[in-house]
Amino acid sequence: MSTAILYITNNGLTLAKRLKGLYPDAKILKFKSEAVSEFWNEYRNLIFIMASGIVVRTIAPLIKDKKTDPAVVVIDEVGKFAISLLSGHLGGANKIAEAIADFLGGEAVVTTASDVNNMPPIDLWARENNFVIDDWDILPQVGTRLINSGALRVYTEVEIKIPDEFLKVAEPRFGDVLITNRKDVYLSRPTCNYAAGEQCSTSACRVKSQLYLRPRNLVVGIGCNSGTSEKEIEDAVKKTLEENNLSFSSIHSIATIDIKANEHGLAAFAKRHNFEINAFTPDELNTVQRVEKSEAAFKATGAIGVAEPAAIISSGNDKLLVQKQKIGNVTVAIAEKRSAVSGQQSEKKGKVYIIGTGPGSIEHITPYARNAIRKSDVIVGYDTYLDLIRELINDKEIVSTGMTQEIDRCKKAVELAIEGKTVSVISSGDPGIYAMAGLVFEIIRAIERQSGSAEYPNKNFLPDELSHCSAAALSVEVIPGISALNACAARLGAPLMHDFAVISLSDKLTPWELIEKRITSAAMSDFVTVLYNPKSMGRPEHINKARAIFFKYRSAETPVGIVKGAMREDESVIITNLRDMLNYDIDMQTTVIIGNSQTFTWNNRMITPRGYEKKWSNGVMEQWGLKG
Ligand code: SAH
Repeated sequence: MSTAILYITNNGLTLAKRLKGLYPDAKILKFKSEAVSEFWNEYRNLIFIMASGIVVRTIAPLIKDKKTDPAVVVIDEVGKFAISLLSGHLGGANKIAEAIADFLGGEAVVTTASDVNNMPPIDLWARENNFVIDDWDILPQVGTRLINSGALRVYTEVEIKIPDEFLKVAEPRFGDVLITNRKDVYLSRPTCNYAAGEQCSTSACRVKSQLYLRPRNLVVGIGCNSGTSEKEIEDAVKKTLEENNLSFSSIHSIATIDIKANEHGLAAFAKRHNFEINAFTPDELNTVQRVEKSEAAFKATGAIGVAEPAAIISSGNDKLLVQKQKIGNVTVAIAEKRSAVSGQQSEKKGKVYIIGTGPGSIEHITPYARNAIRKSDVIVGYDTYLDLIRELINDKEIVSTGMTQEIDRCKKAVELAIEGKTVSVISSGDPGIYAMAGLVFEIIRAIERQSGSAEYPNKNFLPDELSHCSAAALSVEVIPGISALNACAARLGAPLMHDFAVISLSDKLTPWELIEKRITSAAMSDFVTVLYNPKSMGRPEHINKARAIFFKYRSAETPVGIVKGAMREDESVIITNLRDMLNYDIDMQTTVIIGNSQTFTWNNRMITPRGYEKKWSNGVMEQWGLKG
């Protein structure tokens, strides 16, 4: 049982029952302050529906630390606020509060600084990467540094992908966070002789407190005589680590020979620290070359060695970090596990985000799209659009060619993703509206077809080294953006309140006869009509022809909106009519919206009625004391 919902009043009970929709397994309990201590260790999440004061008083004596305390969330009786009170990050209270607020239509109250500042919390990030935090007391200081400076400097000896808000640094002394299995990264440096306040030239000084995060990447090979005690084994391991400046927290697992896997002392040591034991047969151990061979071990076990070959096989590394140490009845050797990231390089899957960045200004990009851009290694797009989001992509690799080379750009994006990169293909507006999304899919499909299987051929299309790649391995995500029609309609008022048609006047990829046919259909059917690409390059007469068609079916007074550069610095918004529309400047940055027979203008707005006039005629206006 992991969630309990505690209530006091009947309203509280009603809300608790509603929350069952979100947490079907939750237990609903009537609150009694003396009973809470029992629940404290029993449930991972405690949701209190009552005043936060009651909760604070009740749980105060029970709180121990953020590693073990349950998540505590408090909700008011009407479900307006869900407060993440305790264990926001590690315990997950922030997520629970957000889920509840979402479910009840209320608001989550989250006060942990990193969330408020949209920063990745260090503790959660460490846990996700399976790093052990060595000294929890330093965490708040380092967290504050992250929030104040907006960046956290990370020195790492393992290959990891770090969040954008973290900066990788090459030297430990510059780091706020040190990711290493070395106990002390400064140990091998000369000691500093400078008096406090003087400039240190040896870089031996720790200028600020640094947080060690321990990757669990040490495999400890252990051999021991029968009957060796747990304590003797533990002491031997600790001594070996200590002498070699390695951290106990970085132990990933134990490796040994099969007959020792159930040796009492060894099993107890592993169990106490939650270490997995990987045991190998003598034959397996004997496959390892270049280890110290032991006659005694061979006689006793049939293996030429135990600690060293077991550590090597188990770690997947062909070198030892620490050669065999014999300490009393125990032999210890240590190898570093091959980094998961580099080890899996060949399987790394690329990703293509096809992103719409909205009509212009950076505020109109969705946060989701922004994040995807930040997560990308490479940005592919047309220069003019990239300029609009320059501040987001300054540090990225950019692939940008002229407007007419869309196919080249998309192909390049797909190739880079196949190499394993995360690539953002940028379109303005929405990427699926007269933009790049379809093209990217068409290219991927073409590659697959060409090969006749999921394997890429290397003929014509892709470089040789990509021939092994599978199209299926590519993950593609389309991320929507605000299209010109949304932006322009918003600027004009509410012209798209009724059925509308969208037509591009560009005949670059569509024959003009077909475009004309569609304009005629839309005009005949009284659709409000949105015209994209109103002036094709080199074909200025398209908009004139379109207007002529509408003239046949609609009155000269029909409202027409002309919006240029919506949501950009040079935005212009004009409301005119079918008769006068050609008196205004219409170019490639413009969208034209032609109203239907009902569209009207009012206070410099263009409005298409939805059909509420029927409601008005039913007397609603009179009820309000207004004339219809
Ligand atoms: N994918 C884009 C459309 C690309 S086609 C989208 O969803 O918005 C290019 C046409 O879009 C332009 O010729 C113009 O008609 C229209 N357009 C794009 N951005 C615009 C803006 N900020 N204001 C007005 N029209 C715009």
